[in-house]
Amino acid sequence: MYKKVKKYAQQNGLNIQEKEGIAFGQINGCFVLIQQDPAVPAKHTVMLWAKSGGIEPVPSVVNFLNECTSKFKYLQTASYSGSKIIAEFQGLGFKWGKNYVPCLDSFLKEITSYCRNNQLVISCEGCQSEQDVSLYQVDGVAHMFCSACYAQVAEDLQRVKQEKKAGGHGNVIGGIVGALLGALIGAVLWVLIYQLGYLSAIAGAVMVICALKGYEMLGGRLTKVGIVICCLVSVAMVLLAEQVSLGYVIYTELKDYYEITFFDAFRSVPDFMAAESEIMSAVVRDLIIGYVLMAIGAWGTIRQALKKGSGNIPARMVTTIDGTDIHNNGY
Ligand SMILES: [Zn+2]
Repeated sequence: MYKKVKKYAQQNGLNIQEKEGIAFGQINGCFVLIQQDPAVPAKHTVMLWAKSGGIEPVPSVVNFLNECTSKFKYLQTASYSGSKIIAEFQGLGFKWGKNYVPCLDSFLKEITSYCRNNQLVISCEGCQSEQDVSLYQVDGVAHMFCSACYAQVAEDLQRVKQEKKAGGHGNVIGGIVGALLGALIGAVLWVLIYQLGYLSAIAGAVMVICALKGYEMLGGRLTKVGIVICCLVSVAMVLLAEQVSLGYVIYTELKDYYEITFFDAFRSVPDFMAAESEIMSAVVRDLIIGYVLMAIGAWGTIRQALKKGSGNIPARMVTTIDGTDIHNNGY
């Protein structure tokens, strides 16, 4: 969590869950939640749960939020669903480092006063009930649910997971064809870069990513089996690409003196390597760098695929909301 926002949260006595990137608790007598953006330090989502507590006329939260977006410099957007206010903050432009937290603070003071003055209350996002409400995090997003609505959400998540499992291995044959085609793109790139005299190993990363994408496109979904196949295909394809690259060099060097075809040259590569230790060490270096870059390139895609493939969507209760929290929003 961005250290200035963390300090602000500490000063206001909020609960901080650093790992989940959230701070929550009462500010000015209202329950608020501040969520840190995982990538950008000065980017936060502020949430408040505010349902009309029954006073007439029903306050126009949307109008109030529109006023806020023009008034608070770093408030990018604000929306209201009838029970939940979502305000997106981002520090942009000149001197945001100094002004970001004060801006966040004045917004929180104003919005919480608004909620109190208009007797807005916390309620379940599913059924609007004010009873038995707790704060949950589902797939990294905070929600207020009653226990019955959360049970429904948990059941839906479970069903999605089961369906993913039942989806089986997809089309493995199609996947293999896709992986081969993808890796082939990388191999062509490898050979071209080699001929231009640059470090062809950078094509290793492209190769494995293309293989994984190819598998997913023609195989339907990228399973663990698919990932293993893609890695094996790419590892083998690098060897082939290196041999073709070297074979082509030998061919162009010798074709003026001897009557040889490209395939003769290609086949002679192992003999050349055995005879010339310099070529051997250059090839080993190419391969090592190629495989390292391949591992780096594959990592992100594989991690994403495993996360998506498992169908596991994290969901947990963050904290229970008791009566005083709910009714501090007004009464
Ligand atoms: Zn509910």
